[in-house]
Amino acid sequence: MAPSPTRRIRKLDAPFNRVVHLPGSKSITNRALVCAALAHGTSQLTNVLFADDTEAMLAAIVTLGALVDIDRTRRRVTITGIEGRLPTESITLDARQSGTTARFLLPIAALSPGRVTVDGHEQMRARPMRPLLDALISLGASLEPVGQPGHLPIAVTGGGAGLGNHVSVTGDVSSQFLSGLMLAGPCMPNGLTITVTTELVSRPYVTMTASAMRCFGAAVDEVPGGWHVSPTGYRAVQFAIEPDASAASYFFAAAAITKSTVTAVGLGTNSTQGDMAFVDSLARLGAHVIRESDSTTVIGRDCEGPLSVDMASYSDTAPTLAIVVAASDCDAEFTGIGFIRGKETDRIAAVVTELQRTGVNARETPDGLAITHGGTAHGTTIETYDDHRMAMSFAVLGLVVDGIEITNPDCVNKTFPEFWDVFETLYERPLIVAIDGPAGTGKSTVAKQVAALANIPYLDTGAMYRAVGWLCDRDGTNIDDRAAVAAAAQSAIIDVTHDSVAVDGVDVTAEIRTPHASQMASRVAAIPEVRKILVAQQRRLIAEYGGGVAEGRDIGTVVFPDAPIKIFLTARADVRAERRFAETSDITLEALAEEIRLRDERDSQRVDSPLRPADDAAIMDTSDHTIADVVNQIMALIATHQQENARVE
Ligand code: C5P
Repeated sequence: MAPSPTRRIRKLDAPFNRVVHLPGSKSITNRALVCAALAHGTSQLTNVLFADDTEAMLAAIVTLGALVDIDRTRRRVTITGIEGRLPTESITLDARQSGTTARFLLPIAALSPGRVTVDGHEQMRARPMRPLLDALISLGASLEPVGQPGHLPIAVTGGGAGLGNHVSVTGDVSSQFLSGLMLAGPCMPNGLTITVTTELVSRPYVTMTASAMRCFGAAVDEVPGGWHVSPTGYRAVQFAIEPDASAASYFFAAAAITKSTVTAVGLGTNSTQGDMAFVDSLARLGAHVIRESDSTTVIGRDCEGPLSVDMASYSDTAPTLAIVVAASDCDAEFTGIGFIRGKETDRIAAVVTELQRTGVNARETPDGLAITHGGTAHGTTIETYDDHRMAMSFAVLGLVVDGIEITNPDCVNKTFPEFWDVFETLYERPLIVAIDGPAGTGKSTVAKQVAALANIPYLDTGAMYRAVGWLCDRDGTNIDDRAAVAAAAQSAIIDVTHDSVAVDGVDVTAEIRTPHASQMASRVAAIPEVRKILVAQQRRLIAEYGGGVAEGRDIGTVVFPDAPIKIFLTARADVRAERRFAETSDITLEALAEEIRLRDERDSQRVDSPLRPADDAAIMDTSDHTIADVVNQIMALIATHQQENARVE
């Protein structure tokens, strides 16, 4: 998929005091999915994270034969397990870009009597696998590299009943190798004793694996030099997933550098996640940290460096901590994290390069990085290297440094698809005016005048659907081919930020206003994949503007359901046709009325985001009113809202 456009981060105007609700932990979700899939009986997992990495695991356990019922709205998954018995036929498991999925599935593949191929995205194929592969071979599984030796894709055969019960593995490249072997252990014929031959990085993740396994009835014990797992199998349970501590680090960091207060609920002293150690580092840098059993609060204060920390056990938060130091007038050195060069990207090089781009004095060290005299960053465009943690941590820097832009901001989908929405809650609630309604009700004229009077930006979302329709016409894209139209929407650079509308640099302002273009727009607008892409862009634009007047068909219902001002304009059909007729010259009144009727029908009957007033919208019939009347009414609503807000503060 083409990368999304860059996202400009607005500097924070005032400190915040927020409670954040974070999605479930990625690491715990993927461990619980494995245990439930291998278990006897039906488990229910709650607060499940739905992100690229966990979707990869969900798809894989279905291929393994688990029965999976997903309720995304309630973040719940019900899983009937396979009791450790894999399918006998050949199967392929796709780990996509997920390290845990790849490393957990390989040892499970070795349980199979058949042939299991484990593959992944190009980025995953490049990541290290060798120590795990050697371990599986020594256990008696037969491995066949399908691509580059030592890397995915790998076909695993000949495991199952003949597997040994003792294995050695290194712990200094990735703790996921050890976790993967442990997870498969209860389903091995004679259990498994694992010797760890080197120092172990990210130890808390291994403890987390053991803790999840025990919840599902496994007997797993730390023994001198390693771990012992008994051949108990797993049993089904109800399992609640903790919020993600790595995800929380961005909000703790945001509070630390802006002298704000943030509380993460569900993450307290009982957490099994090693990344909670991040707040200890913040405390050492001067932040005030309050730990309760079920929540953690960080209150930002002046930075007290220098800081020298070994981050081996909470390395996923190294980019976040680097940002905290870079944003403050501090020196710091992080050690023990050489292995994060093998993450989604070489994370040490990436963090250092991008910090240098902002003017911060950062340098790589053999096993980490060092920052001298932070607090000197300036605005620039940050390369994210398709690494979600780069995008999220540098976004935090943008709260205190003007002009930070994040490339490919959608890469957060890997572990935290709602990141930008939660991030937006750190700002003062922006004024968003949502104006919806069918064609010819005066929407655009009203919306533009309201925006001018309220002195906030204006966004014409219809122009974006029109632009995609225009692109399909230009490129001869079959409008019934949903995937092709969505691909066009994804790759197009649509610029509606000025008075004109441009697509990939071509001015299409006039061309997208014809009756044919209107029909094309409403046809592409009925495609859910297209809506998903454009709605994300609309939210991003309004977030970058810091509020605005957005007009369209689904602004109050879908794009900004929390907008404080929602207007739905209507007008009689004859009035609407006449209004449009007055604006056009080359079409009869009857033909225009028919064009509008067809479009209304399609817009209001489509399955995704049909045109309808939001329950809390003010409905205004403009048939017998002047534009000025309608604008005045809306301005009165805005004034009332602002007075009420001022009283609350
Ligand atoms: O507002 P405008 O007439 O320019 O919109 C053109 C078409 O784009 C609409 O008929 C509708 O099908 C679609 N649209 C939409 N959702 C929006 C804005 C426009 O579906 N928010």
